[in-house]
Amino acid sequence: MVSPVASAPASNAPVPAPTRSRVGKRLSIVAPCFNEQEVLDLFFDRIEAELAALGVEYEIVCVNDGSRDHTLAVLLAHHQRDPRVKVINLARNFGKETALSAGLDVATGDMVVPIDVDLQDPPELIGQFIDAWEAGADVAYGVRVDRSADSLLKRLTAQGFYKAFNGLSDVDLPYNAGDFRLMDRRVVEVLRQLPERNRFMKGLFAWVGFRQQAIPYARPERAAGTSSWRYWKLWNFALDGITSFSTAPIRVWSYVGLAAGLTAVAFAGAIVLRTLFFGRDVPGYPSLMVVILMSFGLQMLAIGALGEYVARIYQEVKGRPLYVVMDRYGFDS
Ligand code: UDP
Ligand code: MG
Repeated sequence: MVSPVASAPASNAPVPAPTRSRVGKRLSIVAPCFNEQEVLDLFFDRIEAELAALGVEYEIVCVNDGSRDHTLAVLLAHHQRDPRVKVINLARNFGKETALSAGLDVATGDMVVPIDVDLQDPPELIGQFIDAWEAGADVAYGVRVDRSADSLLKRLTAQGFYKAFNGLSDVDLPYNAGDFRLMDRRVVEVLRQLPERNRFMKGLFAWVGFRQQAIPYARPERAAGTSSWRYWKLWNFALDGITSFSTAPIRVWSYVGLAAGLTAVAFAGAIVLRTLFFGRDVPGYPSLMVVILMSFGLQMLAIGALGEYVARIYQEVKGRPLYVVMDRYGFDS
C-alpha cells in the first residue's frame, strides 16, 4: 500500500517560493575599482546612507584592480574609518570580470551584491533587491529600462550583441541586464565553483539559473571619472562571451564547406553542358579569380574561428590562477 505522504501532489501547481527574512542576515557589497579616486568618496556616502536604512549587517568588499591612481590610498582611508570596508589589492589590472570574481571569493554575506563604484548602479535599488529576495527570488537583477544616455552606436551594438548571443547559445541573456544584482549565497557558491578562467559574468549569471527576478531601473551617467571601456575592448568582450557560450561559430564551417562544395559541383556540371552544346569559349579568368579569392577568404575565416577557440582552450589548459592578490585589508585570515 502506498502511504498518502509519499504519493505525488494532486496538482502540478508551481512550488511556492519560500519567503525569507533579512533579520540577522549579512549583506556583502562587492565593488571592483579601477582608477576611481574621484568617485570613491561619493560612492561610500551614497551606499552607506542606503545600507544603514536596510536593517541588515553588511560589509563592503572593494577590489582594487591594479589602479594607477590613488584608488588604493582612498580605499584604505575608508577601511581605517570603518572596518566594514574591506580591501583586496590585486597584483595588477586583471579586468572587471576577474576583479569581480576575486571579490565574490572573499565575500561572506548571505546575500551578495556586485556594484560599480561610479554610481551607475544606483544603491537605492538594493532595498528592492532585498525585498525580492525576501519574497523568494534567489537572484534579483537590475534591468536598464532606458539607454538614452548611451550613444546610438553603443545602443545598436549592444542590441546586436544580445541578438547574436541569444541566437547562438543555449542560455538566454536578459536584455540590458548588467552585473548589478543581488545573489543568494547558494548562487554565489555555484558561481565560485565554475572552473573557467574566461569569466564572462553576464553569461555565467544567466547560466546558473535559480529563481531570477528582474527589477527595472534607469541607469544614470557616470558620477565622475571616465569609463575604461572602448569599442575594441567591447568587441573582444563580446567575442569572449559568444565563444564561451556557443560552439556555433566553428560548427558552421562544415555547412559553409558543404554549400561551397555543392556549388562547385553544380558549376562544373554547367560548364560541361555548356561546352558540349556551345563549344569552347574564351577561358574565364574573372570567374576563376572570384572563386579563388572567395574560397581563400572563407578558409581564412574558418581557420580564424578555429583559432579563437584553440586560443581559449590553451588559456584554460594552462590552469593559471584567475588573479593574484597582493594584499588584503580587513580579512581575518
Ligand atoms: N573596472 C575594473 N577593472 C577594469 C575596468 C573597470 O575593476 O579593468 C571597474 C570600474 O572601476 C567600475 C566598474 O568596473 O567600478 C565598471 O567600469 P566602467 O564604469 O568603466 O564601465 P561601464 O560603466 O562603462 O561599463
Ligand atoms: Mg560605469
